[in-house]
Amino acid sequence: MFHHTPIPQIQKMSQIPTVHRSDPDQIANSIRPSGQIHVIVGPMFAGKTTALLRRINSEGTNGRNIAMIKSNKDTRYAIDSVVTHDGTKYPCWALPDLQSFKQKLGEEEYDKLDVIGIDEAQFFDDLYDFCCKAADDDGKTVIVAGLDGDYLRRNFGPVLDIVPLADTVTKLTARCELCGKRAHFTFRKTNETETELIGGADTYMPVCRQHYVNGSMVKKTVA
Ligand SMILES: [Zn+2]
Repeated sequence: MFHHTPIPQIQKMSQIPTVHRSDPDQIANSIRPSGQIHVIVGPMFAGKTTALLRRINSEGTNGRNIAMIKSNKDTRYAIDSVVTHDGTKYPCWALPDLQSFKQKLGEEEYDKLDVIGIDEAQFFDDLYDFCCKAADDDGKTVIVAGLDGDYLRRNFGPVLDIVPLADTVTKLTARCELCGKRAHFTFRKTNETETELIGGADTYMPVCRQHYVNGSMVKKTVA
């Protein structure tokens, strides 16, 4: 018997999925301004704002143009300044969101900027998009400070979302208010349960792991 073996059908060109490969030379030669993103996180009272201002100041001494942004939600100290817990001040833009920054500053002024500092970054829902564009497209150095976790040690706002975008990430620690050891967490002294509760040392304290767990247990028993 003679069997006709079926001739394998040649796939038409249009059916072959095209694999798009990026040309390494093309990537290497495209000229883009080189931006950077640096993230400073940690609990409250860890000196995040101080670290941000120090970093901003050292950038400023290189003759670079700087702008500082903070959320207008936190009005504890001054609306138009970033103020550290020890009282150091720096003029800033207090804004409800980051997308309004360029518009408020003006396109021309924005183009002149080299460095953008963002304090209390956990309050900015558009942090990811803003940082991405500022560093990738506009060549800005963006230095971001904010809380990584809330008082329940859960991810707080968008700060951790920008870690994959960042050049560096620094986690600062405070001193445990109860034993003086390194504190990694923010403990809420009061019984309010909303995530965003703005407050200072009367509402929050930095604690070590042991005192975080002890404190949470005491709260549970009381509640
Ligand atoms: Zn402790």
